[in-house]
Amino acid sequence: MSKIAPQPGITSIDLYQGGASHVAGVENIVKLSSNENPLGPSDAAIEAYKRCAHTLHRYPSSDHLSLRKAIAEVYDLWADNIICGAGSDEIIAFLCQAFAGPGDEVIYTEHGFAMYRISALAAGATPVEVKERSRVTDVDAILAGCNEKTKLVFIANPNNPTGTMIGLAEIERLAKALPEQALLVIDGAYAEYVDGYDGGAKMVHSYENIFMTRTFSKIYGLGAMRVGWGYGPRYIIEILNRIRGPFNVSSMALAAAEAAVRDTEYVEKCRTENARLREWLSNALAEHGVVCDTSMTNFVLARFGTQDEAEACDDYLKSQGLIVRRVGGYNLPQALRISIGDESACRQVAHAVGQFKAGKR
Ligand SMILES: *Cc1c(COP(=O)(O)O)cnc(C)c1O
Repeated sequence: MSKIAPQPGITSIDLYQGGASHVAGVENIVKLSSNENPLGPSDAAIEAYKRCAHTLHRYPSSDHLSLRKAIAEVYDLWADNIICGAGSDEIIAFLCQAFAGPGDEVIYTEHGFAMYRISALAAGATPVEVKERSRVTDVDAILAGCNEKTKLVFIANPNNPTGTMIGLAEIERLAKALPEQALLVIDGAYAEYVDGYDGGAKMVHSYENIFMTRTFSKIYGLGAMRVGWGYGPRYIIEILNRIRGPFNVSSMALAAAEAAVRDTEYVEKCRTENARLREWLSNALAEHGVVCDTSMTNFVLARFGTQDEAEACDDYLKSQGLIVRRVGGYNLPQALRISIGDESACRQVAHAVGQFKAGKR
């Protein structure tokens, strides 16, 4: 046995399961497993990306000032309180690395996003999972899970894979009642899909224990570029910047994200189209006896009677070239998460679920 061993905790990490994108033997697949924007990125973002080809020999900006200013202008925030990362996953990792280590606890909810547990373990901290209430974040359960070791509390709002969210008043109640050494992280990966919701950004201005994360991977359609950002009190941003690699975001990613955030008209179009098709799909699934909670995101969580039924439906969808996501790893074995695709994809998936439920498979 080799004496070379990783830090404790690392071997408890289960590899992150990404959304599948192939089915053996099936051509023309429709990928509805990773909550990607079916309309793709804005043309302005693609153009900005292409323009970078001429300066590939140059290192990227290390302070990300231009992107931070663009985000600040568009969302009416403070550029000095923004940090950019290679996806919001990297921001989540920075938070764990900076604030949680051996002996510390990191709280997340039972159907919470997988990266919270992975990053907590990677930092040597102890992950603590608390219950939700019928697939909705439960502030009282989180508070009951807190103690003097709690350093971070992660909630995605709206959450993935449930699609549900809690109101800002509930989040404020949570922030006020947390132990004083704990930082509340509100993951706003889907915030742009919610009309009139700022992801908790403005609450960052009034509380020194609230931090928000956001991403360009979802409504902005830039998952391949790996850009996310965090918004928090200056003292937290300064700590995170100490462990951030100086060139953590590439020039292409910075340029594409800046163009994307400024193209507010395109974002509006994506939001409207998503809401329309999400309602259509939820209704169509309900007609086939498959229920979903009201989703605030770009996916629905379709619930079946049993795990066997959910898995059989998934197998049938796959055979039809439709790839959705099993969420047993999120303690939801009876459900499938279906991203809102374009109109044709939504019709195909509804039709296939209907065929499955009618026993015509
Ligand atoms: C997709 C997603 C992210 C975004 O990850 P990136 O690293 O920015 O691509 C973060 N949190 C949640 C809850 C997500 O679903």
